[in-house]
Amino acid sequence: MKPKNKKSFKELFDTAKRSAATYNAPMAIPVKTVNDRSPVVELVNNILQEALEQNASDIHVEPGNVVGRLRYRIDGNLETVYDQIPMELYSNVISRIKIMCQLNIAENRLPQDGRFSYSFGQQEIDVRVSIVPLIKGEKAVLRLLNRAGGFMDIDSLDFSQENKEKFMGLCREPSGAVIMAGPVNSGKTTTLYGALHYLNDSAKNIVTIEDPVEYQLYGINQMQVNTKIKLDFEEALKAVLRQDYDILAIGEVRSHEVAKMLVKSSLTGHLVFATVHTSSAVKVIYRLLDMGIKPFLLAIALRGIVAQRLVPRLCPHCCEVYDVLPDSSIAKALGDNYEPGLLLYRRCGCDKCRGRGIRGRVAIQELLIIDSDLQQCISYGPTLGELEEAIKNTDMKTMWEDGIEKAKAGLVEIEEIIRICNE
Ligand SMILES: [Zn+2]
Repeated sequence: MKPKNKKSFKELFDTAKRSAATYNAPMAIPVKTVNDRSPVVELVNNILQEALEQNASDIHVEPGNVVGRLRYRIDGNLETVYDQIPMELYSNVISRIKIMCQLNIAENRLPQDGRFSYSFGQQEIDVRVSIVPLIKGEKAVLRLLNRAGGFMDIDSLDFSQENKEKFMGLCREPSGAVIMAGPVNSGKTTTLYGALHYLNDSAKNIVTIEDPVEYQLYGINQMQVNTKIKLDFEEALKAVLRQDYDILAIGEVRSHEVAKMLVKSSLTGHLVFATVHTSSAVKVIYRLLDMGIKPFLLAIALRGIVAQRLVPRLCPHCCEVYDVLPDSSIAKALGDNYEPGLLLYRRCGCDKCRGRGIRGRVAIQELLIIDSDLQQCISYGPTLGELEEAIKNTDMKTMWEDGIEKAKAGLVEIEEIIRICNE
């Protein structure tokens, strides 16, 4: 499926290895060979380009005893791309990566972090690099951060029409707290950026505090936490509160101090976005109360919560429709949501999805608006059960219901929704 003129990783590694051998000093080579014409440079460029073409989020370059391994994370799964990296060439590849982010190539016993920007056709990407010494050598993990920003449009956040309107309503609130919730890799930061992208306006001072800054947004003041110099979320927040801001975004609320400042600034006329590591909307409220926020303060500060997860997106070119039979396990799992004649979709595989049947991911969400009834409930410091009961009386569609709708629309397989919602 590769174009004829494109070299395979085997060819690229072999060429680089031959060229390294002619210098006959593999360990000393990096600086000398890492000029623009070096095969190692071409090799690393190809590793980056191939990762972009395959829509990978991360590149893993891993040492081994005899050979090293190259893996890409695609749609959340690690896939081996090449597992025959000659170890005599391995340090050159790592050195090239270090040079790209101006790290110390002589240091190979301590972890190092860096980043660099890279142009790929029209696309400009930021790459965040982490290098860690393992017993067999240094391992590099490169996170690819697309800078184009198109993916941050509210339309690309996978909201249902109803949730999209609610979300835009939340973004237009003059003040209060809006929380994005989900576990690691649930896309909550993308949703947070979606809100900032929507609100981005030269008449507003928008400030973020993040750990780490994942995407650079034009026109937004992004601050990175740095615990090495004791610049943690609390210190950063204290400083930012004096920066005449309109809108604030806090990367993650983990401590009582940060939660307190979040509530305080949303009660003093600011719109504040934050992410919280919980699995559902109801648990966000519970978590913030648990962090010691006074119930009556939380009730008036909180405006809304988006909780979400990511599920594999069915390839639209090859997925096939099927009839869900009444006595099938899927019909049972769907319960009241099943009706005879229900049609759902499953993966097949074609050239466009490289035979995998899936391409990219879709977010399933629940969006809770804090109305006056919920406000009253929260202000009494409810139990989790009481909160759940109160939420049932709102018009919120749960993540499960949102997932079923997306399965019916052919975006995802119902098995994935059942699996995620049962976790
Ligand atoms: Zn396909």
